[in-house]
Amino acid sequence: MEDRDGVIWFDGELVPWREAKVHVLTHSLHYGMGVFEGMRAYKTARGTALFRMPEHIDRMFTSAHILQMHIPFSREQIADACVAAIRENGLEGGYVRPLAFYGSEAMGVSAPNLTVHVIVAAWKWGEYLGEGALERGVRLRTSSYARHHVNVTMCRTKATGNYINSMLALREAQACGYDEALVLDVDGFVAEGSGENVFVIRKGVIYTPDIASALEGITRDTVITLAREAGYEVREKRITRDEVYIADEAFFTGTAAEVTPIRSLDDRLIGEGRPGPITKLLQDRYFATVNGELDGHLDWLTPVK
Ligand code: PMP
Repeated sequence: MEDRDGVIWFDGELVPWREAKVHVLTHSLHYGMGVFEGMRAYKTARGTALFRMPEHIDRMFTSAHILQMHIPFSREQIADACVAAIRENGLEGGYVRPLAFYGSEAMGVSAPNLTVHVIVAAWKWGEYLGEGALERGVRLRTSSYARHHVNVTMCRTKATGNYINSMLALREAQACGYDEALVLDVDGFVAEGSGENVFVIRKGVIYTPDIASALEGITRDTVITLAREAGYEVREKRITRDEVYIADEAFFTGTAAEVTPIRSLDDRLIGEGRPGPITKLLQDRYFATVNGELDGHLDWLTPVK
């Protein structure tokens, strides 16, 4: 991705895309500790807007707090950087990636007094789980890899190193011919996808795993809010893989994945094996919300000016 026109915000400056580089002894490259975010900007009738940006920036600072990384910029500076990354690259919509990482002053695990660098990049990103995923839904396989244990790594952080587990799970699922993995926690209960939270629907009630080893997704929160506003009961509870097999409907949520229907798990069709009516309704409401077509949640949109 490095050979592109455009600019990347890097430690307070907008630098040419091709020049936004680091040294090979960058600490985070060796030991995998960094925190990042992913948010989307959408083209709305009132112009381009970032969806739930303050919540994403908050999560980035929360992630850094848990890992005791000091981000040397304020929330406002990072917010301005996110807006600039969209605007200065001439994007009408797109994906925004803030990342904080340790510099290259020293090696060693303890990493005391290392500089924390921050970048914000933005680019166009279409359907995360492949073309047609939003319309047709995706096929899942239960992962042979367990999700993080809450006392092995910190699951409330969106930390770079946590994604080794996601990569193992996703690559395994794809190598076996599936679109995405369903990852169980160490006790065998459903946690999430490799980069998405998961929901199942049975007899009109919407269920999602309570947050322990899964990331506290902002899209998850959006969809829970929209579902409750539409009159649905949403319950957070432990879910087993066979509850997914017998669900009437299931779907993923995530900034990148948006609201992606799930067609099957381990070759068992979920419901009719196509996106169900409640999933479609929530997907429609989600897109209406991010596109600024629902009056109720315009406060979730930050205009890019
Ligand atoms: N779980 C994981 C592991 C993720 O990487 C993501 C994407 N950030 C999510 C869930 C969904 O989170 P959000 O809705 O905030 O993007």
